[in-house]
Amino acid sequence: MIIRKRISQAAEKSGRLSENIKLIAVGKTHKTEEILEARNAGQLIFAENYVQELKQKAEALAGSKIEWHFIGHLQRNKVKYIVPFARCIHSLDSIKLAEEIDKRFKSPIDCLIEVNLAGEESKTGISEDEVPNLIEAIKNLDKINLIGLMTMPPYDENPEKSRPYFKKLCKLLKKINEQKLYQKELKELSMGMSEDFEIAIEEGSTMLRIGTAIFGERVYK
Ligand SMILES: *Cc1c(COP(=O)(O)O)cnc(C)c1O
Repeated sequence: MIIRKRISQAAEKSGRLSENIKLIAVGKTHKTEEILEARNAGQLIFAENYVQELKQKAEALAGSKIEWHFIGHLQRNKVKYIVPFARCIHSLDSIKLAEEIDKRFKSPIDCLIEVNLAGEESKTGISEDEVPNLIEAIKNLDKINLIGLMTMPPYDENPEKSRPYFKKLCKLLKKINEQKLYQKELKELSMGMSEDFEIAIEEGSTMLRIGTAIFGERVYK
């Protein structure tokens, strides 16, 4: 995949090791066959935004040894459907959701807190100010294994516009670790999509969520 080459070039440019940057293939709207094709080309981690789509694809591809992540807005009443499949949730955004995840999962699941840094009304995620409170609540939930933070900057055709948000998320992660808000160090920064992943790598991303640059344009029905 060309994308892997671009990742290693961007990593090298910023003096980072590409093995510390996970590529997550975002398959929303794309067919199961396309996912399988990418799997056969060596891609291991895939993500979906919608519960139904995750369930359908994970069931159809059972046995393909895919690691599934959930990255979309997660409604509390849908948590139970992803329990058998999801290995990581990038979109934790409330105490109530955390409690539901804690209740439904039988073993700890990796989670990232989604932070809405631009304060966009239309976006999911919590504000930066609310993060410490959520972490405090999560501490007592033993099925939640907090590993980091996720963000999605406002869309702009100029990818450089994402950079301040990536910097901000990285700074927030450092602050959380310095102040020891959680019982262990948070290591993951889920940031960077098709248009801006090279900038995200320069700013410390450890998890890239890439759809279009792998599967092509999405067609919504
Ligand atoms: C769709 C989506 C992506 C991937 O976007 P592309 O621009 O196609 O790479 C990443 N993260 C989230 C949360 C998404 O919804």
